[in-house]
Amino acid sequence: MKDPESMRTFKRMELFSSLRIRGTKFIAIRCDGRCFHELTERLGFSKPYDLMFARIMVYTVISVMSAWRDTIRIGYTFSDEINYILKEPFPFSGRLEKLISLIASTTSSAFTNALMRYLGKTSLVQFDARIIWLSDLNDVVDYLYSRQREAWRNFINSVSYYMLIKKGIAPKDVEAMLRGMSALKRINLLAKYGVDIHSFPTWMMRGILVHLTRIKKIGFNPITKEQVKTYRRIFKITWSLPSFKSDEGRILIRDALNL
Ligand SMILES: [Mg+2]
Repeated sequence: MKDPESMRTFKRMELFSSLRIRGTKFIAIRCDGRCFHELTERLGFSKPYDLMFARIMVYTVISVMSAWRDTIRIGYTFSDEINYILKEPFPFSGRLEKLISLIASTTSSAFTNALMRYLGKTSLVQFDARIIWLSDLNDVVDYLYSRQREAWRNFINSVSYYMLIKKGIAPKDVEAMLRGMSALKRINLLAKYGVDIHSFPTWMMRGILVHLTRIKKIGFNPITKEQVKTYRRIFKITWSLPSFKSDEGRILIRDALNL
């Protein structure tokens, strides 16, 4: 006879599996690399920014968006962070555990593939994920703008730290110099050392955006002998972004969501 204990399915103990996203048009899923400070050091990326690392992040975003083609409309990345904007209808009937765990695992796997593709190296890679509820276009713009502000803060902090070290100041002295210093004061301090903050590429300050766009193709129908217009969706990568709060930035986001 079977032991009744072994027949317990534990279905009712899946305490969070019934949580679903409901009543909203959009969500953001934000992935953040775990222990990427060590990972980037181990893999020999340069500080504070490395174009190859940024390319690997963009490749990761495109891989994940390809796998979730009708769901993820926008991918926005800076540093070791990726923000995906999803539009309803959400897959898996919006089941939260499914969405978070699959996006995090797809991102980790895509990043590992990218490491192999670009560097011929591999490493254990971990991304966490969280969900942010966004009710309309304004929410999406405000959210992306808040992450872009974070990209800017990151940029000022890391550039001021590493540029002063490159000027020959000891790391502990740089830390003491910069402690509690505002962004404006950091910019002025860098200027005194001959570092112009605006000489850096825009992607370092504002992040990189990936979205689907439609391109028109003119074909020829051999039966009717007529020209035919077809549309194809391709990924567009914007390395030189406007502020998401500007008209240009808003239009970019709106168009990507309406596609
Ligand atoms: Mg991180």
